[in-house]
Parts: sequence; C-alpha cells; structure tokens
Amino acid sequence: MTGRVGEGGAVAAPAGVGARLPSPLLDVRDDRFDAHGVRLALKRDDLIHPDVVGNKWRKLTPNLAAAGQRTVVTFGGAYSNHLRATAAAGRLLGLRTLGVVRGDELADRPLNPSLARCAADGMRLRFVDRATYRRAAEPEVLAALLAALPLAPEDAYVVPEGGSNPLAVQGCVPLGRELRGRADVVAVACGTGGTLAGLAAGLDPEQRALGVPVVGGGFLAEATAGLQRAAFGERRGTWSLDDRFHWGGYARVPAPLREFADDFARRHGLAVERLYVAKLLWALLKLTEEGAFPAGTRLVAVVTGRPGPETDGQG
Ligand SMILES: *Cc1c(COP(=O)(O)O)cnc(C)c1O
Repeated sequence: MTGRVGEGGAVAAPAGVGARLPSPLLDVRDDRFDAHGVRLALKRDDLIHPDVVGNKWRKLTPNLAAAGQRTVVTFGGAYSNHLRATAAAGRLLGLRTLGVVRGDELADRPLNPSLARCAADGMRLRFVDRATYRRAAEPEVLAALLAALPLAPEDAYVVPEGGSNPLAVQGCVPLGRELRGRADVVAVACGTGGTLAGLAAGLDPEQRALGVPVVGGGFLAEATAGLQRAAFGERRGTWSLDDRFHWGGYARVPAPLREFADDFARRHGLAVERLYVAKLLWALLKLTEEGAFPAGTRLVAVVTGRPGPETDGQG
C-alpha cells in the first residue's frame, strides 16, 4: 500500500493512510464515575488508523507531508510508540524512515517486539549511547549523527523525540475542534505535551483541557506553553496539568496499574494502552473520587493508543 504526499502540505490521505476521522466519541457507563454524577466518554483516537494510532497519526501526518522526499529521522527509546508510528506511517506513505534509538547496548541484542515492528516497517535503526542521545537535539550533535549515518543534512527531515514540533501541535487542533460542544473537560495523557497543546487550541474557551503527565518533573506546563507559542505565536485555550498521578517512568507498568487496566478492559470490553491511557483513566478516577469534577460534568478521556508491546514493569 502506498500513499502520496499531496501539494500544498496536505497528505493525500484515504488511499494510502485511510484514516477514520473524526474519531468516534463513545459514552461509557461506569458506576465509579456515575456515583459522582460524572458523565465519562471516550474519544477513540485509537480507532483513527490500525497502524498509526491516535495522537501519533494527528502529529505525524503534517510532518510527513512536509518531509517531501527526504528521509524522516526521529528519536525514541526502545519501546517508543512514536518510533513505531513513524515507521508504520513511513511504510504507508512510501517514505524512508530512520530511527535513532536510545541505548547503544541494544545494538548487540535481538530487537525487542517494538523495534522489530519498526524494522519490519522498513525503518533503519541506529543505536546511540545515552549521553549522545540526550544531546541529539543540539545542532552539532545532530550534524555529527547525520554525518555518521551517513545522511546529508538536506536529505533529512528531522522530527524531534516524541514527535512534537509546531506542525504536530497544529495537527492536534482538530482533536479539540471535534469535541466542541460535546465536553466540559477533555483529558489527555501527556509525554511531551504536544497533543495537549493542540487539543487545547482547538476547544472553545469555556471548555477545559486537562493534561495528565505520565512522568513527573513539573517541566510540562512550560513545555506545553512553549509548544503553543512555537505553533501559534501565543498561548491558546484553557488548559492545565495535574501531575500528582504519575507512576515514575515511561517504561513502568506496576501491578496496581495493570490490575486497573485489566479491570477496565473487563468492564468495558476495551483493552487500553497502559503506558499512557491506563494511567490517564486511573488519574481521572482518582480525581473524580476527590470531587474534582462537579456533578453533571461531561468528561472526555482521549484514548490516544491501543495495547502494544510493553515492558510490563521492567523499569
Ligand atoms: C505519545 C503518546 C502520548 C503523549 O503525546 P504527547 O504529544 O507527547 O504529549 C499519549 N498517549 C499515547 C498512547 C502516546 O503514544
């Protein structure tokens, strides 16, 4: 299956990419939310595309259109959803992709299921040590990396780790627009904050976007505001973050969270991605139980992903 990058920055979608947009919005009856008068609905961005799931589809398509014929170079950890999505989108659109993976010790081991999928989708993988990886966004480090690949700078289209740049943020604006008039609070799990930045910009001002970071650190409000300024020249929308409910790391799926996710799957017949989505739903339940949402609140949780290869708690 091949797609085509259209003129004027638009991806010629359905032939190659076949996205289902707008994504469905489904009410769920859950007695734990019902008990507080909170009406929960799921924005099923996991149904946008079978291979390029959720927020990654929204973030990647404008970037792949901008890449033209260049090789898409991007960065991620060994279980990165972003790398997997980029590899799949590259295959669908007939673009070359190159993944720079954190951890040179991985180079000598068999690929884990996540990286094996990237490779099967045609992504070339390069492993770099953690010190280099941390500095990969710095121009000289990046230039040296590209030279070693080898790839001429003019043949590379570089997408940052996690995929968040101004085009990605703009790509997430329709997520908010699709929810106008249909929610009071829209909650999304955050890694880089790019999805939250676009979502908030697409909502009406009386609607609130709520970001739940999956790792702690308190850097995310600044990062999200910075992404909005880069994408729109200003801060947009009504949004906030609540980072009390993180679990301490991307690769950690501790037992209580696993149990929560399994229980949610049983109740609703929906297996959810655990590194982000289960954490989001868990946080929303805690917030609901704390009385954070007044009775009658229409609360939408964005299902940004579906289950994939996971580390199941090995840090
Ligand atoms: C990448 C990802 C996120 C976080 O997106 P950001 O734009 O980096 O905040 C949320 N959920 C899932 C499933 C993801 O893969």
